[in-house]
Amino acid sequence: MKKPDDPLKSVISHAKSYGFIFPSSQIYEGISALYDYGPYGVILKNHLKTYWWEAMVGLRRNIVGLDASILMHPATWKASGHVDAFSDPLIDNKENGYRYRADILIEDFCEKLQQKIDRELEKARKRSGEGFDKDHFLITHPKIIGYQEQKKQILRRMVCSLEKEDLADVKDLIDELGITDPQTGSRNWTDVRQFNLMFQTRIGSLAEESSTLYMRPETAQGIFVNFPQVQKSARMKIPFGIAQIGKAFRNEIIARQFIFRMREFEQMEMQFFIPPGDEMQWYEYWKEVRMKWHLALGLGFENYRFHDHDKLAHYADAAADIEFRFPFGFKELEGIHSRTDFDLKNHQLCSGKKMQYFDSDKNESYVPYVIETSVGLDRLFLGVFSSCLCQETLEDGSARWVLKLPSCLAPVKAAILPLVKKDGLPEMAEKIFDEFKWKYALAYEEKESIGKRYRRQDAIGTPFCFTLDHASLEDQAVTARHRDSMRQERIPIARLSSFLEAETNMAKILKKSI
Ligand code: ATP
Repeated sequence: MKKPDDPLKSVISHAKSYGFIFPSSQIYEGISALYDYGPYGVILKNHLKTYWWEAMVGLRRNIVGLDASILMHPATWKASGHVDAFSDPLIDNKENGYRYRADILIEDFCEKLQQKIDRELEKARKRSGEGFDKDHFLITHPKIIGYQEQKKQILRRMVCSLEKEDLADVKDLIDELGITDPQTGSRNWTDVRQFNLMFQTRIGSLAEESSTLYMRPETAQGIFVNFPQVQKSARMKIPFGIAQIGKAFRNEIIARQFIFRMREFEQMEMQFFIPPGDEMQWYEYWKEVRMKWHLALGLGFENYRFHDHDKLAHYADAAADIEFRFPFGFKELEGIHSRTDFDLKNHQLCSGKKMQYFDSDKNESYVPYVIETSVGLDRLFLGVFSSCLCQETLEDGSARWVLKLPSCLAPVKAAILPLVKKDGLPEMAEKIFDEFKWKYALAYEEKESIGKRYRRQDAIGTPFCFTLDHASLEDQAVTARHRDSMRQERIPIARLSSFLEAETNMAKILKKSI
């Protein structure tokens, strides 16, 4: 099995050619970081949603679902901190309008200092050979001490200026360090400005000053504002969770890497409400449970890792990412945050409504603490799609593209293929199709050679092809071809349903996932 040479390029082109993902509004040249899911893409995405929903809501008694509106009262985003804090410091090149995150330009400068340190170390290691004492060298070599000190001072000044919102000083720092546009080498910078990532829209009927609404940048706040209603109506006892799948919108500056970073995307989030003081225990619990859920997909243990955050979001007291090995390296797939009582407390303050819970076991009321698990559906799609796509060379020297999706996620579970378009085979095949279409997503193909039909089903990830030949008329059986091994076996038509049930049922993976 071979992974393609430029994996991301192959993924994008395969997704487009086979109806999984298209660039949005392509007849108008597309629009950056927006994508549409095609006929097979939408089914795969729905299966991923089902996998998450069943594991988080369907199979648990202590988590319930919600579907909150995308547009919310603007006060929500003031209370959540997104109006004031959900922004990036930006700087533009005056000559061509190229836009950059100012903090990332400075961090990249420091990374270059680190590379100088690493080069000095390497030279010294080569000079000294076996007995090289790295720790001693790091604290005694004047050049290295200089670089380290410079790096420390730069980062300290940047963090301090950002915290004080002294953007003029961030610009001064960029000028003093002589940082140039990485693409053009120019230093013709604008001032640094904060750029809020939330999209705005207007609502007609409200008064002028409050008519600006935001497209939600995360689904979580819909859960927080509904906390008291859900808790009371569903009679939930803490600890319990509320889960939601829905669209979120961010005006991302660096929108690239296909559906990894989009401006409109879908999140699958769960907020778990707990007594104050229990947060670390539940944080560790959810880290483990969520990793288990990912691993159950069978994409390989080595493709996942945790990354604990040093720099925490404004609402969190602990945070970790589950990272996945995307075609461009390990990157965040899911975030797990201990959000304290930050959100509920602020909503209580801003709305004047109680966000407390009466704990009958403790005989006291409190604002619950929250552990959040938040996975991007599109990133999950990209991870699954890219790691399952491979190119194989067959015995006759020809190549096939095959999408080795877990069977329960495959958009089409089986293709019904009459070997020839005559002698009663199409009629027999259609009869099988009509009998099983109620339970399984099937394809029916009678055109082209059987080899070409297999190739097409391989490319969209169909785990089984059932071919009818002349013998089928006699023995009432089909040849079942397995997608990954290409193994063929004869199966009686009377056994097809139990075969598909055993092979494609999601319960098999779900059992391993929780
Ligand atoms: P990043 O650091 O990559 O920008 P984040 O830390 O801002 O992500 P969260 O706010 O924790 O992300 O959102 C939870 C999840 O939502 C992420 O783990 C990711 O899977 C998904 N997500 C966030 N931003 C985007 C985006 N622009 N496009 C697609 N998915 C996204």
